[in-house]
Amino acid sequence: MAEYKQYKCESCGYTVAANPKGHDVTMRGEVYSYMCEECHEIVCVPASKKTACPKCGAEKLVKWNPVKGRCPKCNKKMQETGIVLMVD
Ligand SMILES: [Zn+2]
Ligand SMILES: [Zn+2]
Repeated sequence: MAEYKQYKCESCGYTVAANPKGHDVTMRGEVYSYMCEECHEIVCVPASKKTACPKCGAEKLVKWNPVKGRCPKCNKKMQETGIVLMVD
């Protein structure tokens, strides 16, 4: 069981649930957060899988975390919403 926090971009309203560290250990194994440079989404990819975007299949993924990372849509800082989500 892992705890993800929800982050929101105040500028464009984009929301994402992520571990503040940018990676986590779940039932499916270790997962990393990436920003896809093709479709500008934050995606989670298991460490055991090929680092390709699950949404568009592009391999242009850069490691991302919500503390240092910025909104993939408009490059503004993401804010914590205070919502915590449980994932397994
Ligand atoms: Zn934004
Ligand atoms: Zn993509």
